[in-house]
Amino acid sequence: MTMTNDMINILTFSWKPALEIIILWALIYHILRFFEGTKAIQVLRGIFILIFLFFLAQVFKLGVINSLLRDLFTISVIAALIIFHPEIRQGLARLGQHNIFSTALKEEELDYILKQLGKATDDLCKSKVGALLAIENRDLLDNYIENGVEIGAKVSSEIIETIFTPNSILHDGGVIIQNGRIASAGCIFPLTQNQDLSRIFGTRHRAALGLSEETDAIIIVVSEERHDVSLVYQSKLYRDLSKEELFSKVKGS
Ligand code: ATP
Ligand code: MG
Repeated sequence: MTMTNDMINILTFSWKPALEIIILWALIYHILRFFEGTKAIQVLRGIFILIFLFFLAQVFKLGVINSLLRDLFTISVIAALIIFHPEIRQGLARLGQHNIFSTALKEEELDYILKQLGKATDDLCKSKVGALLAIENRDLLDNYIENGVEIGAKVSSEIIETIFTPNSILHDGGVIIQNGRIASAGCIFPLTQNQDLSRIFGTRHRAALGLSEETDAIIIVVSEERHDVSLVYQSKLYRDLSKEELFSKVKGS
């Protein structure tokens, strides 16, 4: 009887910390994955290191380090909340959201636009021509539309391909699609400051990432150098997508 009780005690004693470690590990892993590619990731890593040091100081009862870390930790959490308020808001809005595209457009209008964009990017890719296209989502892109040349045409693969044809006056910069129409071309987007980004990505890809750090736009990049199509959304870059993959990623299916 005592034997069984002892065994139960040992089992309860050993599985609880293990379960806690697994839950904590999964939580930290998902939080890091969630903010991966955003400016907040560096600070998050720092906070987790502080938590770990704080934990060690508690275990080994290091009084001075303990109280120092406690103050530093409180200050850094408050500072991170203030500095990374936009990233945190974006991240929370993303929670539980499957369809990345939130638009007032009807399903068939969206399908039509995506088909035209798919064809245009495919053709541009085959002709080794670079392109940058941003589709407005919830955040308005009016400021960026205004810094380009306003067009206001129905989306068609022919117009997009014409815009990006080398030597066309509007081929530099990005095209913005708003409410199902080509709103503007030759738009300048902010460049990302992300230092971790591979050197193979130049200013076109950096402009796509920069815009996606500022807004929830869905951005398509055709690489002139590598002849591949990428989707950039929520500060993440999905490389080398086929027409079908691009379509299903945007539709969130
Ligand atoms: P690629 O793979 O096509 O070579 P890349 O990421 O290496 O792209 P660059 O070769 O530097 O980028 O591409 C330069 C082009 O990117 C410019 O001609 C211009 O059209 C576009 N571009 C550069 N900066 C911006 C910006 N801030 N906003 C919009 N477009 C930009
Ligand atoms: Mg280049």
